[in-house]
Amino acid sequence: MTPAAAPDGPSASRPDSARARNERIAQAARRHHFDHAAPVPFLCECSDARCEELLRMTLQVYAGTRVSGYVVTPGHQVDGADVVRVRDGWWVYRGSGASPGQRRSCST
Ligand SMILES: [Zn+2]
Repeated sequence: MTPAAAPDGPSASRPDSARARNERIAQAARRHHFDHAAPVPFLCECSDARCEELLRMTLQVYAGTRVSGYVVTPGHQVDGADVVRVRDGWWVYRGSGASPGQRRSCST
């Protein structure tokens, strides 16, 4: 048994790994033919590795936020990113989400 569900490798930032999991949630919801108007629970994509908050949005809204950036529950933060949309129940951050500036950690 391998806990392969969490892609929390050292290279992936927490917002990116949460985002990857949300992609799978969205795919599963589409497969199960969720009503487009029905809210789907997604993970908060903030930088706090221990955050387990959920937010609810329809698949259509979710698709729109994917273009903008990271979606979080109100008040949560994504390092190195700025809030670009504030809604009742969720915020969207835009930015790298990983490293502000040009920090490189190449160990060759
Ligand atoms: Zn959060």
